[in-house]
Amino acid sequence: MKVDAAKQSLNAVNPEVEIVSVPKRLDAAALSPLVSQADVILDCTDNFATRHAINRACVAHAKPLVSGAAIRFDGQLMVFDLRTRESACYACLFPEDAQVEEVQCSTMGVFAPLTGVIGAAQAMEALKLLAGVGESLSGKLQVLDAKNAEWRTVRVKKDPAGGVCAKKG
Ligand SMILES: [Zn+2]
Repeated sequence: MKVDAAKQSLNAVNPEVEIVSVPKRLDAAALSPLVSQADVILDCTDNFATRHAINRACVAHAKPLVSGAAIRFDGQLMVFDLRTRESACYACLFPEDAQVEEVQCSTMGVFAPLTGVIGAAQAMEALKLLAGVGESLSGKLQVLDAKNAEWRTVRVKKDPAGGVCAKKG
């Protein structure tokens, strides 16, 4: 299974790290207790349904979310530090009811090094959040155009009418 392979690879690099794998698809109910126990959540999934379920759990438990995506030559990196009420959430940027065409890297393909770049950047932001070091990317979306070697940073505003994180305030 994918999780077992991931666990093996990670343990080969970091034998002292305890890895708890959960080899099943997580729905909202199953996500909640796992997210509540975490200090930071990294979303590396490839579909909007799961991304929104993870976002809702992070909003509910006020946990920081580091979200990454890569498709073809395009990468995205986002941090939502939901420990603060002012923080936007994933749904402020990509509304749950939006009519989006799902493009997955499993069908569209992805420029292989791009997943490494985005994954490493996610790890970097997660470690910064945990250590309280530097300035987090929270409230910003970074877009990497790998084809033209260009990073762009876009500010993300909390959507007061958005519903997902707005209800909490
Ligand atoms: Zn929101």
